[in-house]
Amino acid sequence: MSMFKKMELSDEKSDKQPEGEPEKVKCLIIGSGPAGYTAAIYAARANLNPVMYEGLEPGGQLTTTTDVENFPGYPDGVTGPVMMDDFKKQAARFGTDIRPGIATASDLSSSPFRVTIDDSIIIETDSLIIATGATAKYLGIESEKKYMGSGVSACATCDGFFYKNQDVAVVGGGDTAAEEALYLSGICKKVYLIIRKDHMRATKVMQQRVMDKENITVLYEHVTREIVGENGVVTGVILINSLGEEVRLEISGFFVAIGHTPNSGIFRDYLETDEVGYIKTIPGTAKTNIEGVFACGDVMDPHYRQAVTAAGTGCMAAMDTEKFLGTRKF
Ligand code: NDP
Repeated sequence: MSMFKKMELSDEKSDKQPEGEPEKVKCLIIGSGPAGYTAAIYAARANLNPVMYEGLEPGGQLTTTTDVENFPGYPDGVTGPVMMDDFKKQAARFGTDIRPGIATASDLSSSPFRVTIDDSIIIETDSLIIATGATAKYLGIESEKKYMGSGVSACATCDGFFYKNQDVAVVGGGDTAAEEALYLSGICKKVYLIIRKDHMRATKVMQQRVMDKENITVLYEHVTREIVGENGVVTGVILINSLGEEVRLEISGFFVAIGHTPNSGIFRDYLETDEVGYIKTIPGTAKTNIEGVFACGDVMDPHYRQAVTAAGTGCMAAMDTEKFLGTRKF
């Protein structure tokens, strides 16, 4: 799916700017999740003329979620894609220049900062708001790659439908895994939840919901050894239990839900991050170690990772940017 999106994006880039000539902007926002759009709304209303590049997953991770029930202002809940569409409309209403495209390189060594989009367009900006979010992690076993898109997925909402009335497995013990298992339990015949520890990390309420579902079987202390298949599609998974024995499950779908990696790679030469790659910000602000570069949302938040906290830090990033631009001559 990502590759396809990338192709779509690069197809659209050519009419934006002649090759080789950097475009100069005042405020550049990279990423279009709740953090990026909130930053855009605030920056646009403050007349910073923000230019936003949507990134690899326009709308961010929420576009792969079903119901969002904990974002204030939606008393009856809302689906992730609808909510992100609302964010986008609001950012556009105040004049944000929203463009498709992926940031592929950066040079933050001096101001104006330079960000390369889709390996070809260069944007020079007086201020930069990084809202690139985080990406799903995979187990890293060979068979996972082999069956990617043919039975292996990191998004139940995107792909669960293909396994209607079939048996599937989800690996992971956090809230994401619990959520994926619950979602799949409404579509599939049986769902195995594979957890490597003897307990789940998910919040108590999510654990209870999982336990209440008759068609979810939780397998504690099981580690995935290999995903197996026939004729290029998944037919089962081989696990190792706590006694070191092999356990084989007959499944047609294998969903990986083991956490995320922050999308900070192209900025790491310049910005301070923690050991995982989350961009460090000065507490109580969205400021990074470089003046004029701000970070918000999941790319800088290893703890809360909620849409509402991402939106909150997006607001902080725009307000910090406004202050920065107001006190500098460019
Ligand atoms: P987490 O980091 O919380 O959990 C990851 C899970 O995957 C852990 O159980 C971990 O096991 C397991 N894991 C990691 N690597 C492997 C591996 N190689 N093999 C097997 N298992 C592995 O990530 P989540 O994405 O679940 O959640 C991230 C954050 O988002 C959390 O703060 C969560 O609360 C929040 N969230 C909230 C939701 C909601 O409120 N509705 C929905 C989804 C997420 P171990 O415990 O052994 O380390």
